[in-house]
Amino acid sequence: MNSSGTTPAPEQPGYVWEQFETSVPMSTYLVAFAVARFKSVDKNATARQIPYKVWARPDMIDYAQKAAEYGPAILEHFEEYFKIDYPMPKMDMIALPDFAAGAMENWGLITYREEYLLYEGSQTPAATLVRIVYIIAHELAHMWFGDLVTPEWWNDIWLNEGFASYVEYLGADKVEPGWKWMEQFVFSDLQDVLYLDSLQNSHPISVDVYNPDQIMELFDRISYAKGASIIRMMNHFLTEEVFRNGVTNYLKKFEYQNAVQDDLWKHLNDEANTMQVQLPATVKEIMDTWTLQTGYPVVKATRDGEKVTVNQTRFLLNSTTTEKPTHWYVPLNLVRSSNVAGFDSTNATVWLYPNASTVEFTLAQNDEWYIINAQQTGYYRVNYDERNWEALNKTLRESHEDIHVINRAQILDDALNLALAGHINYTIALSLTQYLGQEESYIPWATTADNLSYLRRMLETTGKYDQYRAYILSLIKDVLARGDFKFPVLEDVPPNGDYQDVTEVMYKELIWGAACQMREPRCIGNATQLFRTWRENYDESTPDKPYLNPNIKGLVYCEGVRSGEAAEWEFVYKHYNNTNYAAERTLLLAAMACTDKSWLLNKYLDMLLTPETSGIRSQDVSRAFAYIAANPAGRDEAFKFVKVNWEKLKDKYSSGLSTLTRFITPFSIFNTEYELNLLKTMKDEIEGSLGSAARAMDQTIESVMINIEWMNKNLDTVVRWLEVNGSTVGPTDPGYPNDVRLPRHLRPTEYDVKVRARMNEPGFPIDGWVTIDMVCNTPADNITLNVHDITVNNTLVQKVTGQQVEDISIVEEVFDLDRDFYILKLSKQLELNQTYRITIDYEGRLQSDLAGYYYSSYVENDETRKEGSAESQR
Ligand SMILES: [Zn+2]
Repeated sequence: MNSSGTTPAPEQPGYVWEQFETSVPMSTYLVAFAVARFKSVDKNATARQIPYKVWARPDMIDYAQKAAEYGPAILEHFEEYFKIDYPMPKMDMIALPDFAAGAMENWGLITYREEYLLYEGSQTPAATLVRIVYIIAHELAHMWFGDLVTPEWWNDIWLNEGFASYVEYLGADKVEPGWKWMEQFVFSDLQDVLYLDSLQNSHPISVDVYNPDQIMELFDRISYAKGASIIRMMNHFLTEEVFRNGVTNYLKKFEYQNAVQDDLWKHLNDEANTMQVQLPATVKEIMDTWTLQTGYPVVKATRDGEKVTVNQTRFLLNSTTTEKPTHWYVPLNLVRSSNVAGFDSTNATVWLYPNASTVEFTLAQNDEWYIINAQQTGYYRVNYDERNWEALNKTLRESHEDIHVINRAQILDDALNLALAGHINYTIALSLTQYLGQEESYIPWATTADNLSYLRRMLETTGKYDQYRAYILSLIKDVLARGDFKFPVLEDVPPNGDYQDVTEVMYKELIWGAACQMREPRCIGNATQLFRTWRENYDESTPDKPYLNPNIKGLVYCEGVRSGEAAEWEFVYKHYNNTNYAAERTLLLAAMACTDKSWLLNKYLDMLLTPETSGIRSQDVSRAFAYIAANPAGRDEAFKFVKVNWEKLKDKYSSGLSTLTRFITPFSIFNTEYELNLLKTMKDEIEGSLGSAARAMDQTIESVMINIEWMNKNLDTVVRWLEVNGSTVGPTDPGYPNDVRLPRHLRPTEYDVKVRARMNEPGFPIDGWVTIDMVCNTPADNITLNVHDITVNNTLVQKVTGQQVEDISIVEEVFDLDRDFYILKLSKQLELNQTYRITIDYEGRLQSDLAGYYYSSYVENDETRKEGSAESQR
């Protein structure tokens, strides 16, 4: 509330009494105070000019500008959206250096992790900015859903969280309209939770809870993401007008009071009646099938001539279940290949009923394919007959843009999960992914990468990993070969980080991430070269000075650590303690887990137990742990760590929302009987003290059982398919990358080398330039040279004709460190028998490894001398 005045406190010299005005009635969990020497960015919001401030540590206040632009605009949007004014006289948002959750919707004083509020264009990854936007929108949505109307008890918490998790995307779209928010929703929320909700150990959205551990357990993906997904489904089958009016009526009726989910259903139902929307039952009857039952259906469609018959069963990954069947009210619609305008009609044209009967659609004779669930607004999966899968596959390959981008992602996500559950053959699902080389949109790639990472995790500890690697390399090969697809540099970031379409950036980040993960030489070369120059240019007094493109920074740090030694790891850790910027620390925590040296990973684990001395913030410990456990080199150590330290972890982290579960869920990667037994033994040992991680433990054990079954049933089929369809580029390929011979299209005729070795300076720096004249033997578009351990500062390529020289521009520089290649792609073809000159301005250090430029020492008159040498045949 606003301050009503300050008076001296005579009984306490140096203190004052600050009086605040009486607040509106509110729930106790929404009250917050903050006392801090922070600074603020001050704005106003709404037509009523409500003071709107964003607070941060004084040295981070410049990073609060973006949030101060977004906040008021989103608040105004929600006033319009809910048709109810924001009732408080002010709004404050504050960035806290230590905060267990992401953010908290205290009424009028929203608290955030620094990472999720503070932004600087040249430093913040676009993906973090996306999170900042939707978290601000999420918390502001709570001002109505949660704060103005509060659930009566925690069993209805999904109403708060589901609603905020859905409308956050609408608020975000208001301030960044080019960022394809609904596409992001489908990938990040809907498809994400469909996996968790296909476990038997999932739970209904609305569940009775009696103690704090059970309440904590409710703050999971089911409440947030499934809640949001079924609200979005309702938005579409009720139509926009009915949905909005019903929600407004509900909020007005219960403002400053408590409500239960039936109250919302009633107001939506009344509005549907008023507007004469045809429904198969009341809103309550429909929605109870979604909120009171666990899981969701798979809709199976079968074509016979022009007739499509549709039925439903519960979708479970663990098919051995003998539970009694569950059914839902399922809203359906159909898009036919002869009428693709149907992708825009997302209301229900037909319903499946819980009495388990079937329904029918009619196609036209010339319909080659059909799709159920336009834009995936319904919360379910769809399986088709084989003929339709084949037709969809053909369309993806020949004209993928005929299918709506969300449905392209749906097809891939459904198919790969249907294969996982044994509903369709893996060969059908995997062959659908083959069109992706032509796919330029983010979400079909994102969902596929996510699903294929399951295969990676199953294969990475077997001898079959190379087959997986070869296939992924063949998928991304076409993308990497596109002319405009370059490794991102700092200059690519738009001023202030004002991205037109952030998904384009996320797409690039995803492809490069996959490339480096699969050890693609161009990616590794670029990333390790950048890591080295960043490290060489690092100045401890300005650790946050931008040097790398923020969107590949995480990748560069990770590759630097992975290909480096202890020194590189220590350097990243040092930067973790030097940087002042929270989002940077998150990237570094992930990078420190990239090493394949178990002793470093063990050291890292030990540091997690002593945040006071390691400098790793308590809020980040569970996240760092998850990174370590995701690395095959650290997994066993991570497991031991949890087993030995469970009581300590539980005491320290059980109060954070879903923090404790992060010490358990990483082991859902296990896929052998041996590991299953380890997990079961651990469960027996800590059974009584699992607390809010109890359900996560059961879900993890179930996942491992599914994995074991998967290995037995699918491993051979999948590996065989990958073998046939993978690229020939692999480590066993004799031509690559072991062949370090330079291409023969250029013949050097003259070298001119200048070296300056600064022998008295630490690290023995060297610098200089080299000029090489070459004659072209075969026309080509590149110059390829050997370099080893030097940094190239500047390169000039010229065409030399007698006395005349003409510059040729360089389109791209590639460092292929596996082969010590430095490849220059040129804007022009090199001409036969023509002379070219290349001049390279370089610097580096003398090495002790006797390769490239190296140093040795000798003793002369009892004095150690150092000399610089060059191993010139390289
Ligand atoms: Zn929330």
